[in-house]
Amino acid sequence: MKTRQQYIESMRKVKPELYMFGEKITDRVDHPIVRPTMEAMAATFELAEKPEYQGLCTATSHLTGKKINRFTHIHHSIEDLVNKTKMTRLLGSYTATCFQRCVGWDAMNALSMVTYDIDQKYKTEYNKRFLKFLQMVQDEDMVCCGAMTDNKGDRSLRPGEQFDPDQYLHVVEEKSDGIVVRGVKLHQTGTVNSNQIIAMPTRAMREEDKDYAVSFGIPSDTPGILYIYGRQASDTRKLEGGKMDLGNTMYGGQECMVVFDNVFVPWERVFMYKEWDFSGDLVEKFASYHRQSYACKSGVSDVLIGAVQLLSEYQGTAKASIVKDKITDMIQLNETMYCGSLACAHEGHEEPSGTYYVNTLLANVSKINVTQFPYTIAKLAQDLAGGLMVTMPSEKDFRDPKLGKYIDKYLKVSDAVPTENRMRLLRLIENLTLGLGAVGYLTESMHGAGSPMAMKIMISRLYNLDRVKKAAMRISGIKS
Ligand SMILES: Cc1cc2nc3c(=O)[nH]c(=O)nc-3n(C[C@H](O)[C@H](O)[C@H](O)COP(=O)(O)OP(=O)(O)OC[C@H]3O[C@@H](n4cnc5c(N)ncnc54)[C@H](O)[C@@H]3O)c2cc1C
Ligand code: SF4
Repeated sequence: MKTRQQYIESMRKVKPELYMFGEKITDRVDHPIVRPTMEAMAATFELAEKPEYQGLCTATSHLTGKKINRFTHIHHSIEDLVNKTKMTRLLGSYTATCFQRCVGWDAMNALSMVTYDIDQKYKTEYNKRFLKFLQMVQDEDMVCCGAMTDNKGDRSLRPGEQFDPDQYLHVVEEKSDGIVVRGVKLHQTGTVNSNQIIAMPTRAMREEDKDYAVSFGIPSDTPGILYIYGRQASDTRKLEGGKMDLGNTMYGGQECMVVFDNVFVPWERVFMYKEWDFSGDLVEKFASYHRQSYACKSGVSDVLIGAVQLLSEYQGTAKASIVKDKITDMIQLNETMYCGSLACAHEGHEEPSGTYYVNTLLANVSKINVTQFPYTIAKLAQDLAGGLMVTMPSEKDFRDPKLGKYIDKYLKVSDAVPTENRMRLLRLIENLTLGLGAVGYLTESMHGAGSPMAMKIMISRLYNLDRVKKAAMRISGIKS
């Protein structure tokens, strides 16, 4: 297993072709915009080093029997699934941001099942290839990003009907030693902090779309892959020098646009090739696992609730019953999100491959709560914080010898509370509810692992309405 520091150093050897603000970035490890995001990823290594988190953050490989980072583990029990939920919450509260490592982990768990199922039907050898890849990831404690979302062009049209065939990632050439793929994956979390990129189809395919039914895992710096860094609200505050105005002074999230410009993939790294009838299954399994992973947002809410409570104490409002009531509402919503993630883990089951899979209905219910509750929690946080959160002077003004004394005097709430502490909490609440951190806390909650409609479709498909109709008939005395 790698330590936090070994992970950071190892990233220097991975050299993705990365662009930001129109410039090529060659020193991303020390880049002020990238580094906090790498630190968030590094927290997944750091906590696995700590004795008190060994049970949660490490596991035993079913391939080698070695101790591994849980983020590279294939779930082999209900306890594994439950530990996943607990660990993602823990890391959410440790970093107050998206720590990025779950997407590739969820992709690996989904592939461990689907490659097995394809092999059963078609006598292929995807599972063997995948397990070899997995062992490398486990042995070297690698980070994988999970690349599912295509641009998708006109959403009313299927992949092959688009104005441009590259709107969905697809195979453009078959060679004796591998395939060549072209297209794009959007919104890719943590990609330039990763060793490997695992691509998957973005939707269920039909036979006519079989060139789009492709999955593979290749090094992030494979020639032909190009990364364009995603802008986030207030991202250039990271270039200003001081840290206070960031709110989250330590960590951040990261998404990139990832272009595949005729990228070669050797056969031993191909995990699905034109088996269009398994494409929907891979999407569904990945999505269900990833919907479980959103216990991370309960962890982020922990930090927000903590910030609001402390600020209320500073500002002298904490004892008012209306404030206590609002804080209690925030806690209730947050714990409800957590309950959903725990429930789908507890109700999981073993698949034919031996991998344990979450309860799909409950995973979707869990994530749909996550598309709603952080917005209400954020509204309550903004209510209790007061308007200063968006009108406060900058850190530079606060540090200025002439202006600072006015800011210190007129933003003070009591002799016991340094003005700077109040300002720091206000910036943290700003970060999480409308700044850099809101990307992860709000919009990612809405669209990450699929937009709400995707969950509603699954919920209506999976809930057994016949069963409940029969229950109603029996109780009301209807005979047939
Ligand atoms: C912060 C963040 C991180 C992410 N990380 C990753 C990642 O690491 N890996 C990854 O693969 N993906 C990632 N995603 C992508 C995420 O899964 C998608 O954003 C999500 O699936 C929605 O797709 P979209 O953004 O293309 O929205 P769209 O598909 O454009 O959806 C916009 C709206 O249109 C609706 N809509 C879409 N199609 C139809 C239709 N046919 N009919 C009617 N309504 C429709 C949707 O329900 C939604 O309300 C991330 C997204 C975000 C925001
Ligand atoms: S949004 Fe949450 S579940 Fe998804 S990668 Fe980030 S931390 Fe993990």
